[in-house]
Amino acid sequence: MSTTTKEICMSDQRPEVVTDLALAENWGEVARLRNSLGSIRVRLHHLLGIRSQKVGRSYDYPHSLRTVAAMVEAKLPTMSQWEAPKAREVLDNIVTINDAIEAKYAEAAPLEREYDAKQWSRFFLVQNNNGHIHSSMSCSTCYFDTQFGWLPELSGLTEADAVEAHGAILCSVCFPSAPVEWTNGISHVAQAEKDARAAAKAKRDAAKAAKAITAPDGSPLKDDGGYTIKTEVTARREMSGALENALWYPQSGDKYRAYADRLAEAISAKTGEHAYDLIINAQNKAEKKFKREATA
Ligand SMILES: [Zn+2]
Repeated sequence: MSTTTKEICMSDQRPEVVTDLALAENWGEVARLRNSLGSIRVRLHHLLGIRSQKVGRSYDYPHSLRTVAAMVEAKLPTMSQWEAPKAREVLDNIVTINDAIEAKYAEAAPLEREYDAKQWSRFFLVQNNNGHIHSSMSCSTCYFDTQFGWLPELSGLTEADAVEAHGAILCSVCFPSAPVEWTNGISHVAQAEKDARAAAKAKRDAAKAAKAITAPDGSPLKDDGGYTIKTEVTARREMSGALENALWYPQSGDKYRAYADRLAEAISAKTGEHAYDLIINAQNKAEKKFKREATA
């Protein structure tokens, strides 16, 4: 029986992983609840008709959630009969959400205590391009708004395990003992993206090369006006056109046929077809077309 990835995860019940998976989930739920409080703060400002203001380079609302909630609470008695119940509902929601956050903290507390007692290794991946793996979310190299992704499945493991799982992208501040070559690499995800881009480019280049044409000596193939003919398709179209022109303008026939011969040589050098066959086939088609059009 084959073992699927999921079964490996299920059987990987190291206590550090179990604890940190639960904490990571808890942490995600708290973040979601905090976001809801952020939305309520905005709504309460709107209820009072207060607009956002420019703060630095972005916009924000002037009051904290606590302050704006108190302002709305104070205004409740003077609100209209349809506005007041809506405001009341939003204010009640704050209490509900805060209770939920407290409950999440209470759930997390024994898990946090377990970690405090044992202090196993932890790994956090910064969620941007070229993000590093850190040992905590309070690394001095990160900014307050850095987006961390917890890697709980690595909890309790070594720096080498983290490098194997995600690439040589350890933060040298968080992991001062890590060899330099574990800190200055590229993540597996970024490497895979890079490889995919390179493969796509190679495919495009190959397709371009398949269509491309040059003179038999490898130099650019020029038309009679001196413009470069880049593709085999164009060369064939030019060859047919030249042979048709030779029929329409017999006085310049030699010039057109010489041009068609030059193109046929280039196509032949590329495809291995005989230049003579190319000319004969194109000549036959040109004559049929000429007859059709000349008698039309
Ligand atoms: Zn760090």
